Amino acid sequence: MVKDKLIGVDLGGTTIKFAILTAEGDIQEKWAIRTNILDDGSHIVPDIINSINRRIELLKLDRERIIGIGMGTPGTVDRKNGTVQAAFNLNWRGVQHVRDEIQKGTNLPFTMDNDANSAAIGEQWKGAGENNPNVTFVTLGTGVGGGIIANGQLIRGVYGAGGEFGHVVVEPGGYLCTCGNRGCLEQYCSATGVVHLAHDFADEYEGPSRLKSMLDNGEDVTSKTVFDLAKEGDFLANEVVNKMAYYLGYAIASLSNILNPAYVVIGGGVSAAGDFLLSKVRENWEDWAFEPVRKSTRLRLAQLGNDAGVIGAASLARDFL
Ligand SMILES: [Zn+2]
Repeated sequence: MVKDKLIGVDLGGTTIKFAILTAEGDIQEKWAIRTNILDDGSHIVPDIINSINRRIELLKLDRERIIGIGMGTPGTVDRKNGTVQAAFNLNWRGVQHVRDEIQKGTNLPFTMDNDANSAAIGEQWKGAGENNPNVTFVTLGTGVGGGIIANGQLIRGVYGAGGEFGHVVVEPGGYLCTCGNRGCLEQYCSATGVVHLAHDFADEYEGPSRLKSMLDNGEDVTSKTVFDLAKEGDFLANEVVNKMAYYLGYAIASLSNILNPAYVVIGGGVSAAGDFLLSKVRENWEDWAFEPVRKSTRLRLAQLGNDAGVIGAASLARDFL
């Protein structure tokens, strides 16, 4: 029988998304379950196994047709041993033997990588990367993550930490980061980083600004509030977005100068600010990108949205072809 189906699993702290795709990466079936992180996350792997098995039976899908299962997960992934650890939003503290359990429970080949690498390969394969072998992906969400595909290969590094752009230092001695360092990109360009900048700028600003009055009144301000107000012409909000775009443009220019990818793809929740953000980042990037890089590398917004994770995860299973 021809093997022509991939299964992708996007494991997150609140939901687990699943998809069945063709070998060419077209989604044929999608579903999701809630992530049960109770009891040290011990229900997660059994829930994944049951959900996949039930769906295969429901669809009367012949297991022989399935190339394999790929999964993107939070935490530190040891691909050699098939384990995950330090995935705190799943309550996984110790080492989890994810690969062996899922292979045994589904009787299918299984592989995985961290969620940022999975999303990167999804965008590279079926999204803004247009299947180009040289794509750099930056994701701006609660944190800042990323993935590098160079010459068609994910750059994982010796400990799986390759492509962790969030901890590139853009302001030596700057904001304290969760990693213990100071001035990391994540502290300025994540959703929380943008709000942090907004608070600091508001403290120094005396002119009229809706953003300033919201912050001074203790109203709930998110990165989306800042971008929406900037688009409406709020002076202070624009100062915040300009500073954020400065740091991001600087970091992406440095990455571009090293890697010279065809595309740098910007995704994650904060990138919902769209072309408004992208054009400001590009202006800064052009100031620092080395001329041949400026001429050949393109900055783009991600295109797959929530599907990047499952598509990228499924793509990992193409290794079994
Ligand atoms: Zn850091």
